Amino acid sequence: MNNPAARILFIEDDAEIRRFTKSSLDRDGFEVYDVGTIERGLIEAGTRRPDLAVLDLGLPDGDGVDFIKRLRTWSDIPILVLSARTAEQEKITALDAGADDYLMKPFGALELSARVRAHLRRRNATALAKGATLEFGEVKIDFNRRAVERNGARVHVTRIEYRLLTYLTAHPHRVMTHRQVLKSVWGPNHEQDTHYLRVYMTHLRKKVELDPAQPRHLLTETGIGYRFEP
Ligand code: CA
Repeated sequence: MNNPAARILFIEDDAEIRRFTKSSLDRDGFEVYDVGTIERGLIEAGTRRPDLAVLDLGLPDGDGVDFIKRLRTWSDIPILVLSARTAEQEKITALDAGADDYLMKPFGALELSARVRAHLRRRNATALAKGATLEFGEVKIDFNRRAVERNGARVHVTRIEYRLLTYLTAHPHRVMTHRQVLKSVWGPNHEQDTHYLRVYMTHLRKKVELDPAQPRHLLTETGIGYRFEP
């Protein structure tokens, strides 16, 4: 069951996509406020206080990224962007500006609903007290001891690997760009060093994934970054 109180702001100027998507989110029990411009979106965000925003990037009164930047000055609700399959740089810019996730157009209504629910769950989980441990698959992270275990046995991770793992696991379901990960784990002077990241991700996957070639938790978003799925 969805939380019937979950409110979604949906910003999309394409009338067909807007009608179709709104009715499917309505059916799933969400309260949807749909608008066609950035300006209306900002007004609705301020007055309706939605729990999550779904945003098309190409809008008649500007770039969706401007909406993200402005919303992020006062709100931390999850933002899902809708993007054309080919517009890779557009997605990266949106994620760097503070979007949480993206869906490629054309997208399925079921996929959108599943993503919306995952982000709302994450938000609720984050709102609860932070635990001293986190478990996913066969892995357990003990934050107090700064230790990683797999099937109950201690796994040796380097300081950087530990930071990388805890950074990604702190943002479940969320697409983190190479730039965001590098900046947070290595520091602001390393934002371009994607080769470091690739090497460390390979090491880390060997330690925490059952099949490092087919990771189930530390997923690659090709050309963009990584996503942790618990
Ligand atoms: Ca559009």
